[in-house]
Amino acid sequence: ERFEEAPLHPVMLRNIKLAGYEIPTPIQRYCIPAILDGHDLLSCAQTGSGKTAAFMIPILSKLMGKASSLAAPRPVPGSTEPYIAQPLVLVAAPTRELATQIFDESRRFCYRSKLRPCVVYGGADSATQRMELRKGCDILVGTPGRLSDFIERGRILSLRRLKFVVIDEADEMLDMGFEPQIRKLLQSSDANEDDDQQVLMFSATFRKAVRKLARDFLSDDFIQIK
Ligand code: AMP
Repeated sequence: ERFEEAPLHPVMLRNIKLAGYEIPTPIQRYCIPAILDGHDLLSCAQTGSGKTAAFMIPILSKLMGKASSLAAPRPVPGSTEPYIAQPLVLVAAPTRELATQIFDESRRFCYRSKLRPCVVYGGADSATQRMELRKGCDILVGTPGRLSDFIERGRILSLRRLKFVVIDEADEMLDMGFEPQIRKLLQSSDANEDDDQQVLMFSATFRKAVRKLARDFLSDDFIQIK
């Protein structure tokens, strides 16, 4: 019933306090232990339920102790050498507004850790976003179009270090026609060397296309939270 009861990193517990969160919401009570235990999951989630913290808190807490061994080397500040961002966490969300909200929440929980978040979305200058990526990017939040664009252009973004992939508002993204981009993101992260990668899907509804996406990309023993 309290955040302190979960085995969370001390820096994370402090950041939760700073955020002013005292009691976990229902979705947080289900998701935090499941994600800490290493499960893939498909979770029903409405906006306002606290779903962003439900995945950010356990993911970032798990990375906090190990960030320095997992994270890609940072580029030399000011250098113009080629640099490819290699995030540990990828969060795909349907809209710029939602991506920005998730990014803001990730910043508050990355506080006093070595983890650096970035956000990318369409309809905004991509050179500016690339400059942000060049400062180092451990947690990448973005809309499917811009993420695919950066991956396909090459030499900008690589998914080879990913430990966590989060698909937020999956049904919304399918409605918006992003299924090919989402499948491609999941396929390319699946193809990396790491088997202990976790995939987490959130959706307001569990209609057929959502369940199919989960069957195709979540591990066979994924947890479903209604
Ligand atoms: P979300 O559903 O992720 O969009 O979150 C909805 C709002 O609830 C956001 O403004 C969060 O900052 C806030 N929130 C999330 N979890 C908690 C919590 N355990 N206690 C208080 N506020 C929370």
